[in-house]
Amino acid sequence: MNDILIIGGGLSGTLLAAQLLRLPGQRRVRVFETRAELGRGEAYSATELGHTLNGNAARMSVDPDNPDDLTQWLTAHIAAGGWPESDAQPVPVAELFPPRGLFGVYVQQRLAEARQVGQAHGATVEHVRVEVVDLQVDATGVRLSLADGSQVRGSQAVLATGMFPAARTRQRQSSGLNAAAVDPWDVQAMRGLDPQGRVLIIGSGLTMVDAVVSLDQAGHRGPIQVYSRHGLLPHVRRQPPTWPDFLAADLSLRSPLQVWRALRGQCRQAMAAGIDWQAPLDTVRAHIGRLWSQASEREKRQFVRHARPWWESHHHRSPPPSDALLQRLLAEGRVTIAAASLLGMAPAENGQVGIRVRDRGQARERVDTGVALINSTGIEYDWRRVDRPLPRQLLARGLIRPGPLALGIAAAANGAVENREGRASPRLFAMGPPLRGLWWESTAVTDVAAQAKALALTLAGARG
Ligand SMILES: Cc1cc2nc3c(=O)[nH]c(=O)nc-3n(C[C@H](O)[C@H](O)[C@H](O)COP(=O)(O)OP(=O)(O)OC[C@H]3O[C@@H](n4cnc5c(N)ncnc54)[C@H](O)[C@@H]3O)c2cc1C
Repeated sequence: MNDILIIGGGLSGTLLAAQLLRLPGQRRVRVFETRAELGRGEAYSATELGHTLNGNAARMSVDPDNPDDLTQWLTAHIAAGGWPESDAQPVPVAELFPPRGLFGVYVQQRLAEARQVGQAHGATVEHVRVEVVDLQVDATGVRLSLADGSQVRGSQAVLATGMFPAARTRQRQSSGLNAAAVDPWDVQAMRGLDPQGRVLIIGSGLTMVDAVVSLDQAGHRGPIQVYSRHGLLPHVRRQPPTWPDFLAADLSLRSPLQVWRALRGQCRQAMAAGIDWQAPLDTVRAHIGRLWSQASEREKRQFVRHARPWWESHHHRSPPPSDALLQRLLAEGRVTIAAASLLGMAPAENGQVGIRVRDRGQARERVDTGVALINSTGIEYDWRRVDRPLPRQLLARGLIRPGPLALGIAAAANGAVENREGRASPRLFAMGPPLRGLWWESTAVTDVAAQAKALALTLAGARG
């Protein structure tokens, strides 16, 4: 029997398990996940209704063969009396921005259905609730060491370990920052803050937007100071009309600079015709993997250095309800944004937290204080900086090596992980955020769903 060990039971691991259950053939799938439930991870464990998906239902199907899958599920769910608050968004179901917690329920339901399909041909999935701390590969299979001291063998293993939180300052005082910081999604902890107190947020991306929603839900009404290197805020997601796929029409556009120039031209054309610039931008999405893998190391580096902040704020857009709150607070002067670098922690009195920052273009550093600090600087993609047993062991054993630009880990296009010497493993695979360096965009629902389907076919085709 083919025993497949999936490390991580967030969206990636769960969708992979569901795809494997649906493929013909007997197999035992074990998903190692420390959280109580599969299918949630950090993103879909959200309990606040205000923490929504950043795309509408029409964009967030987990079935690569049916883009309407989430819309259909939501329609039935709402008809059965679920999510009564959806009435507040007077739009068709396809245009709703569902709460992320509800999306987790959808994923779990799709897994439950796949279990039924799998049962018919002897394929099973089991949730093993323990951390995997080490992994070894030999000629006959893979051996996992678990935090409870036990070991498990299988024929193949998949790293679906997701994202590791970042906490980078110039001096890498990550532990100090993390220790002082409030979780951006922990509304309960925020209820304990002085509601009029000043809150400091580091980072201005989508996690910051979520943190502002959390503070609002917690009843916080004081000032919020946001610091980020570039001071760029995510744009709001609108519903642009379709636009011709200009990259499909001209395959000679390859380098990031060529694509960038063409895209700017397309956006100008669209705006001149009174059409949203988001329309041409959204056509680029389908080509990102190809463009990124074709680009040279130098081009990738240039893109990350010069275009990344722009890409993040224009492409990773905010859901309209969250954006409406942020815009209101900005207009009221309760949220202010400053372009500054975080230098480290500073001593503060009376239970406050202090940070040292340097404003953009200024030589002098200054100290700012607040009743709380929220770290929303995003993700640590460089596994050499991740302080967890499994990444450390995999690196020490030479079973993995950093991916391009040290973004995640190196792998072949089918997800087979490359060892220290650059050889792709027949037994160890990865999917989702660890493949950031391979695909650039490797975290969104649709990326993960497509990878799960392709990887399941690879694993099912491989000999046990
Ligand atoms: C807050 C947030 C909001 C997001 N919103 C959207 C959105 O609106 N739209 C969109 O398209 N994308 C969104 N994303 C991106 C994307 O959908 C998620 O990152 C996606 O959940 C990735 O799934 P994953 O399973 O790979 O990783 P994760 O969700 O991080 O799950 C990985 C799991 O692996 C487990 N794990 C890790 N290491 C081990 C180990 N050694 N042993 C056992 N278990 C382990 C962890 O406990 C974790 O549950 C969001 C991401 C975040 C963080």
